[in-house]
Order: sequence, then structure tokens, then C-alpha cells
Amino acid sequence: MKRELKKQLGLVGNPLSHTLSPFIHKSLLSLRSLSADYGLFEADLSALPALFESTLIKLDGFNVTAPHKVNIIPLLGGLSKRAEMFGAVNTVAAENGKAVGYNTDSIGFLRSLEYAGIELGGRVLILGAGGAARMFAFESALAGAEVTLAVRTTGLEKAKKLKDEMENRLSKRAGILTLDSVNEGYDLIINATPVGMYPDTESSPLAPETVCKSAAVFDAVYNPGETLLSKYAREGGLKCVNGLPMLVWQAVAAEEIWNGISFEKSEVERVTKLTKEELEKR
Ligand code: NAP
Repeated sequence: MKRELKKQLGLVGNPLSHTLSPFIHKSLLSLRSLSADYGLFEADLSALPALFESTLIKLDGFNVTAPHKVNIIPLLGGLSKRAEMFGAVNTVAAENGKAVGYNTDSIGFLRSLEYAGIELGGRVLILGAGGAARMFAFESALAGAEVTLAVRTTGLEKAKKLKDEMENRLSKRAGILTLDSVNEGYDLIINATPVGMYPDTESSPLAPETVCKSAAVFDAVYNPGETLLSKYAREGGLKCVNGLPMLVWQAVAAEEIWNGISFEKSEVERVTKLTKEELEKR
């Protein structure tokens, strides 16, 4: 029999029509015969402060997704060290009357690499310079990696800003390239662009001959289960993991914060498999 946690949880973002988060949290809690309310709150930027005051602040905790991972910060009463460093929050917990922001995306990223047997270090090439790239770049630099950012021409300014931030906040240098000029091999390529994501499944940010010079690929995209970039990596014999384990591990980390529940690797793998099946069904 399921026990009700009596917790009011949820997700804020826009749009939320394709979100897998309710499915993932329900699946995780089912493993402990638990359930909780996980509501969906769609709001655009102008509606976020009013929604926060009327509803979100009264919840026990909530997740935050695009486009509010940065916008939510001024509304919160505190930030974890990681959330403060990345300037992005994807999990909020009510703690002693304060809404405290966390970044569990970074925990999800690190755990999914670890369980895929991919070491974060050496020369790391990060494709993109948006919100996810920022976290990947910071975590890579903190792990001692030598970071290079590769962007399309329109993204050069953003990449320069990220490079400057890495220097100012972490005292770590980063290189910048355009995507079409990448021609060396790296210990790890991290795709932090939406290139290859459904419905644009015939695109890859890098050509196969470039991908094959490297040792491993982490693709933040999880729909489809195998992007063209991941296919090039698999065919070239590289270690490779897509964004789905990261998505599930960040939810696991949120459950640890909200409910003090932890999960074994085998349980998380089971939920990742169920989530993959759910994604394929949709
Ligand atoms: P974002 O802030 O919008 O950044 C996107 C980056 O990709 C920007 O640098 C953008 O460059 C670049 N880009 C967009 N279209 C491109 C194209 N056609 N060719 C080359 N570069 C392109 O997005 P984000 O939040 O960082 O998310 C990036 C990806 O990570 C998305 O696919 C998202 O679904 C995924 N993600 C996955 C997880 C997970 O749990 N697995 C978590 C977070 C994000 P410009 O500046 O030139 O536009």
C-alpha cells in the first residue's frame, strides 16, 4: 500500500507540456511505496513573482525549469553554494520559513558521468555557452579539467562572458573556438546545445571524423535516446552517455533534499529505464 508523504511539491517553468519530472518523481517515490503531490505551474517571466507569492512559497519544495532557473533567484531567501556559483536554481526547498535554492543539475551531471565510467578531467570541450554549458564549464574547471568552449559565431559573445567569469570567479582559464574550427581530440566532449534534439534529429554539432578523435561524449540531450552525436561516438568506440541519467539523478538529489530519501544506483537505473520507455511512448 502507498503511504502519502503529505508533501506539496511541484515544478515551475514554461512550457511544461512535455515534462518528464512528474513521472520521474512518482517513479522514485513508488520505490519506497510513497507518493506526494507534484503540481505543474506554468508561468511566463512577468507572472513569476505573483505565482511565487501566492503559491510556490507555500509548497514544501519545487523544481524550476526553463526559462526561470535564473529569474527565480531574486525571489528566494537563500542559495546553496553551488546555486550561488552557477547563478542558476533548479530545486527549491522550504527550510525554516525560507525558500532555499539548490542546483541539483550539477549533482545529476557529476553522478551520471561517474556511473558511466567517464572521468571528468584532462581536456574538456564544451559545445555551447548557455545555462547548462555554464554549469558544465564550472564543474569541469573545478575538477581540474582544461576547458575549451566551442560555439557558433552568434554565440561568441556569450562564450567570452563565460570565459571571463571562469577567470574572475574560479581563476581558471578557458579557450574559445567556433564549432566549425574544432579539429583536435579531447578527453571529453560535452554537448550543451540543443542540436540533435527532437525533431531536429538529423543534426550533429560536430562531424563524425572530429568526434572520433576524442575519448568520450556526454550529450545533455535526452530525446531522442541516441542523438546523431551519440551515434558517431558509439560507432567510433567512444564512451558515451546522454542526458537522461542526468535528468533522473538531479531528481534523486531533489528527493534527498526534500524528503531525506536516497536511492541506490540500481534503483536509479531502473527509473532511468522506465523514463526512457515513457519518453518513447509519448
Ligand atoms: P540555452 O541557455 O538556451 O543555451 C543553448 C546554447 O546552445 C547556446 O550557447 C546556443 O548558442 C547554443 N545553440 C542553440 N542552437 C544552436 C545551434 N543550432 N547550433 C549551435 N549552437 C546552438 O540552453 P540550456 O539551458 O543551456 O540547454 C542546452 C541543452 O541542454 C538543451 O538541449 C537542454 O535540453 C539540455 N539540458 C539537459 C538537461 C538534463 O538534465 N539532461 C538539463 C539542462 C539542459 P547561441 O548563443 O548562438 O544561440
